Amino acid sequence: MEKESVKYQRQREAMVKKQIESRGITDLKVLEALRKVPRHLFVSEALRDQAYGDFPLPVGEQQTISQPYIVAEMTQALQLGKEDRVLEIGTGSGYQAAILAEIVFRVYTIERIHSLFINARKIFDKLRYHNIVTKYSDGTSGWADESPFDAIVVTAGAPEIPNILVSQLAVGGRMVIPVGNHYSQDLIKLYKNEEGVRTTSLGGCRFVKLVGEHGWKGY
Ligand code: SAH
Repeated sequence: MEKESVKYQRQREAMVKKQIESRGITDLKVLEALRKVPRHLFVSEALRDQAYGDFPLPVGEQQTISQPYIVAEMTQALQLGKEDRVLEIGTGSGYQAAILAEIVFRVYTIERIHSLFINARKIFDKLRYHNIVTKYSDGTSGWADESPFDAIVVTAGAPEIPNILVSQLAVGGRMVIPVGNHYSQDLIKLYKNEEGVRTTSLGGCRFVKLVGEHGWKGY
């Protein structure tokens, strides 16, 4: 029988070809990171064989690991460079943070559910992602002490773009955030320059809710 790691490596390669490259993702740094990060280790053992499928998967606490293509699209939209410091709101399984950590200098990631925060920290340590800094908190207020960030990615759906996050973005910084109602959102890309901010829509998407002071309240 072939070794597990080889099996998953093949599945990962197929995922990148069929789901990512074929849909127009061209940023080589993003493609390389997707080829490298062992996505199957970010889901429970029972779901490992589904980890490279074209869909999101549950990660416990009613939260999900995003579909691979969405991770690729959001990461490419952030236009990352290797010196960048990036803030992620919504660590979840930790997969998106690991993808970012393959590309940039340092990743700061915040999770509001304790068990997910703990699990993610464990996998980051196991895979030796020493450039990921984790925090257990409401991420809708960002991480003022470490700001400004070159890029911010919000991996949960917000009712609107929190101004406090925009204020923690460097001039020249990029943010990607799903904005909409509970059922569907627009994936918004925001660019900040000296004059202000410019936003564009990357299309529809569906994320779990961003819950917190500057997100959905009362959940
Ligand atoms: N990036 C994740 C996807 C996680 S799903 C991955 O790659 O697996 C969204 C996550 O956002 C959930 O884990 C949820 O608990 C978290 N979340 C929601 N509101 C939050 C908030 N205010 N601060 C931090 N995390 C939040």
